[in-house]
Amino acid sequence: MNYYSTNGKAPIADLKKAVVKGLAEDRGLYMPEEIKILPKVFFDNIQDMSFQQIAYNVASAFFGEDVDLDALQDIVYDTLSFDCPVVKVEDNIYSLELFHGPTLAFKDVGARFMARLLRYFTQNTQSHQNNLINVLVATSGDTGSAVANGFLGVDGIHVYVLYPKGKVSPIQECQFTTLGKNITAIEVDGVFDDCQALVKSAFMDEELNKHMKLTSANSINVARFLPQAFYYFNAYARMKALGKAENLVMCVPSGNFGNICSALFGHAMGLPIKRFIAANNANDIVYKYLQTGQYEPKASVQTLANAMDVGDPSNFARIINLYSQNNKLTDVATHHHITNLISGATYSDDQIRETMRQCYAKTGYILDPHGACGYQALADGLKVGEIGVFCETAHPAKFKEKVDDILGIDVDIPDRLAAFMKGEKQSVPMTKHFEDFKRYLMQ
Ligand SMILES: *Cc1c(COP(=O)(O)O)cnc(C)c1O
Repeated sequence: MNYYSTNGKAPIADLKKAVVKGLAEDRGLYMPEEIKILPKVFFDNIQDMSFQQIAYNVASAFFGEDVDLDALQDIVYDTLSFDCPVVKVEDNIYSLELFHGPTLAFKDVGARFMARLLRYFTQNTQSHQNNLINVLVATSGDTGSAVANGFLGVDGIHVYVLYPKGKVSPIQECQFTTLGKNITAIEVDGVFDDCQALVKSAFMDEELNKHMKLTSANSINVARFLPQAFYYFNAYARMKALGKAENLVMCVPSGNFGNICSALFGHAMGLPIKRFIAANNANDIVYKYLQTGQYEPKASVQTLANAMDVGDPSNFARIINLYSQNNKLTDVATHHHITNLISGATYSDDQIRETMRQCYAKTGYILDPHGACGYQALADGLKVGEIGVFCETAHPAKFKEKVDDILGIDVDIPDRLAAFMKGEKQSVPMTKHFEDFKRYLMQ
């Protein structure tokens, strides 16, 4: 399968190029040329299939032409070494718990899948130093842990996680500084933007790129975002097994809109979801677009649900592309098409706190601040006869200080998270000057 750029000015790429490059030459996002509709028999039997079996069917539709099917099956099964259950919170509202992976956040699936696919594409070239792939990733916290753990121990790939010194939470920091092996944490004396600037300069530096193979594990990478569709097929299957699959509304707490975009790909492949809700925190750019048809990106504001603090969501370009004839952001027909399927919701920090308290008091279910936006959007937006499923995108223990404070409880820390906190921190101190970072990589 070939991939084209949402900006329409870059050459068509094959899967390997799209994965290794991440972003197209015209800075657009890669889109598959075809979205295959899955056969009726798949949906008829889906409730009897495991998460891994379902995911393998979905992965074959995306990647089956480009990856040997046995290898693809191994990649999928190895990626999904954990469950993603649907849990009843109250009548008609269910939580799709995407937080049972190694770093307790939904980005684990995409990161693990991408690492294994990248390995597949490079393993046939002989593994000497020149073939080592170096993944550079700048993080303000969550992405670094998912990518580092997703790539941990994968041969032929070395990961450098750049993070701002003193600006990530202790739990986040230990999730990528204690791993060792093929993961190096670089502690930059600066802010997140400095980390991102170092990564960008590295990709543009000719001498450095001659010296070593560099790639990014950004969330816009097709190998990170498409596998998230697995979640939605699995959610449908589990709801169908409960006899609750009619009139399903899927609600996704959204920041960069990669997760919901993968769900929309699922819908285009025939997944019978009636409609979608994109739940935002105070960063309401897409919410406003859905209301008005105008898309006006702005600087992000900091909220309690900080993994959704995005002021110009990159994957929104993919959503426009999916539903548009002419790829114009403000086209009326496209807006109409989109609002027929997707509605929005937006919540302030005060509302998030209130939702967490009310849900806990009423049901005993502990929401994290991101999931709270999803739950509340269903509580506010479900119509008679509909059944809602929201994504709980992170384990509440990942935001322990906030959750404990808001709910007045002491959230249990799962063993997996506690194990990270016992590890020894190892990091390379770095200034924010590119010459220093380059000198370090060149040696
Ligand atoms: C990344 C993230 C989100 C937002 O997902 P997008 O794909 O960027 O929309 C929501 N919640 C949590 C906990 C996240 O880590």
